[in-house]
Amino acid sequence: MKEIVAVSNFNTFFEMLSALPDDTACRLYLEQILWNGIPTCPICQCKEHYKLTTKGEFKGQYKCKDCKKRYTVAIGTIFEGSHIPYRKWFIAIFLFQAHKKGISSLQLHRDLGLTQKTCWFMLHRIRKVMGVTDEEAQMDGTVQLDESFVGGKNKNRHHDKKVPHSQGRAFIDKTPVLGMLQQPVKEVIERPHKVIPGKIVKETIYHKTAVVKCKVVPNTQGETLKPIINKHVKDGSIVVSDEWMAYHGLNAKYDHRVIDHRAKQYVDQAGNTTNDLEGFWTWLKRSNMGIYHVMSRKHLQAYANENAFRYNNFRLKDKPRFDLTLQQSNTPRLTYKQLIGKK
Ligand SMILES: [Zn+2]
Repeated sequence: MKEIVAVSNFNTFFEMLSALPDDTACRLYLEQILWNGIPTCPICQCKEHYKLTTKGEFKGQYKCKDCKKRYTVAIGTIFEGSHIPYRKWFIAIFLFQAHKKGISSLQLHRDLGLTQKTCWFMLHRIRKVMGVTDEEAQMDGTVQLDESFVGGKNKNRHHDKKVPHSQGRAFIDKTPVLGMLQQPVKEVIERPHKVIPGKIVKETIYHKTAVVKCKVVPNTQGETLKPIINKHVKDGSIVVSDEWMAYHGLNAKYDHRVIDHRAKQYVDQAGNTTNDLEGFWTWLKRSNMGIYHVMSRKHLQAYANENAFRYNNFRLKDKPRFDLTLQQSNTPRLTYKQLIGKK
């Protein structure tokens, strides 16, 4: 039996192709990520197992010595029940998380030689695990708040959302999304150069990285937005928003700073702004127009989470971000029926 040790010393996509040359190598890599290399029964968590062979060949089938159930590392992951080889999955995942704007199912269909429909489904599954958010973790420090309208088909339409007194700033075919962005806390320190004696270099230390969360909402009224803000932002934090009336009253729980966008103010005297969040929206909308063309309302939360994942992990290199996606791959998988909305 050929034993391959899961190789972890690749950094780029190119290096991954040779570090993980076949499905066995990919499977072992996944076992390393999800089990720390020790097969673990998904039913009873027992680590004692038999290896099962098919026609004398071992292909990752285990049998639990305790509960006698058979399992593979794919159980409970996005790979479960998939006829697509691990290596094609891995290539799709690597490219999808590494590219700032994602990748289209049409492109993946050309690259992997699978049908576009299969690729579309794969991307949705990958998007779902990338988009796993910690709903319990509250943001604190300084948190920027803003809503945006995403989607819609008329590209050439006037897209400035700041229509005075319009009902919830709504546009009929656009979907409102609430964004919350915890500002990074960083400091620039000076330290001795690690190699050159006597040389001092500057380094940015992050005490807290930027985190963005977005929620697709039915409208942008206060009674819709405030409970979401209360859930995700810790009491007593500084919250920064524009003058939109839905944010009125936030000062009951928060130190609320209002940036008067109507007066063309973008940064107040204390340096508060919602510009980082505006930057995120620009990014989200570019990925919308450039890759997906039309983000349907039904899938918008998944698209938003996918982009939040890239934003929140942008300081990671492609490889650790790839590993992180694999780590999250054992979240409840998405079936095709769920995806297209059929019961
Ligand atoms: Zn078991």
